[in-house]
Amino acid sequence: MKKVGFIGWRGMVGSVLMDRMREENDFNLIESYFYSTSKGGELAPVVPNGSPKILSAMNISELLGMDIIVTCQGGEFTSEMHPLLRNEGWKGFWVDAASTLRMKDSSVIVLDPVNRHIVEQSIRNGVKDFVGGNCTVSLMLIALHGLFKEGLIEWISSMTYQAASGAGAKNMLELLAQMEAVGKTFSKSPSLGALEMEKEVNHFIRQDEFPKSNFGHPLALNLLPWIDSEMPNGQSKEEWKAQVEANKILQTSQVIPIDGTCVRVGALRCHSQALTIKLKKSVDLNTIESLIAGANNWVKLVPNNKLETLSKLTPSAISGKLEIPIGRVRKMSLGDEYLNAFTCGDQLLWGAAEPLRCVLRNLLD
Ligand code: NAP
Repeated sequence: MKKVGFIGWRGMVGSVLMDRMREENDFNLIESYFYSTSKGGELAPVVPNGSPKILSAMNISELLGMDIIVTCQGGEFTSEMHPLLRNEGWKGFWVDAASTLRMKDSSVIVLDPVNRHIVEQSIRNGVKDFVGGNCTVSLMLIALHGLFKEGLIEWISSMTYQAASGAGAKNMLELLAQMEAVGKTFSKSPSLGALEMEKEVNHFIRQDEFPKSNFGHPLALNLLPWIDSEMPNGQSKEEWKAQVEANKILQTSQVIPIDGTCVRVGALRCHSQALTIKLKKSVDLNTIESLIAGANNWVKLVPNNKLETLSKLTPSAISGKLEIPIGRVRKMSLGDEYLNAFTCGDQLLWGAAEPLRCVLRNLLD
């Protein structure tokens, strides 16, 4: 049995990965070792063939014995530990949720429903670093897989609505703390009129005491139109990732331009995206819908009507589900080659944990 070390299994992505691996009985196939940067020495989660104690994630000699390391710990950990291990001559497989290694020539970005053939070929070719893609990129590619496969897309503009949990466990809990703070303070003032209430609430959420140490700003009753760091060209890093990662995942011979604005919203879990798609030629709507619907096992076409859109195409409707609904599919008044669409997906499942689980299964096969 292969020895697999898990780092970051306590976090949002890692917890979802653990749950999916339990559901699919993946732990029966491996010897599992659990590492942490803060809980070393405590009892490890109980899984078949699991080591009983949590090990220190910073102890390189413990990690050197692993055949496969799966990390959902974050970019800082990868930046520090990956080169240390490789410099020590470690030849194991590194499977990672963080963005650090994604654009390196030595790594492959994994997204099973879309590029499984590339992943399998890379394993045969001796690639050792496999990295999950950015969550919104992976979800968009699964939703639009049918149009990419047919080579119909000239460019895409994507406007995102990204949930608080996309920034990690602490941030999601902070959004709830913000909501609680507002709820506690203002439930006592029902006599205020709507506009007076808005003024008071807005003043309240801008105070220094308001809980915002992780986001740095109020997210409750607000939105934040910047995610990740600044790029020199005016994009946010999250916006920059869309084009570079999508084209790497698809291994396109000619770059498909993808750009838009990424926005953090007060949803707890699941990222949504409004898409403007420029097609290379005019294609009738029925053909477009059947291409989208038949592309893979996970995409679900939602008919473009109000009732089904509002019940099936929202973060709350798809939280915890592997399916990726896409709807609002219609030709735009901009012209016959312009397509509108809206998609929503669980960024912790196909946006993060599930591609890692799939590549782990590939490596064991
Ligand atoms: P996270 O929830 O913040 O967890 C990361 C680590 O923080 C945990 O493994 C744990 O490490 C520590 N931690 C500290 N306080 C914690 C708490 N209250 N609950 C749980 N863990 C706590 O990070 P994440 O969102 O899973 O992201 C991990 C990586 O995946 C990042 O590189 C991220 O960019 C990437 N990613 C995230 C998403 C997403 O939607 N969140 C999507 C795609 C990719 P110790 O056990 O060592 O203390």
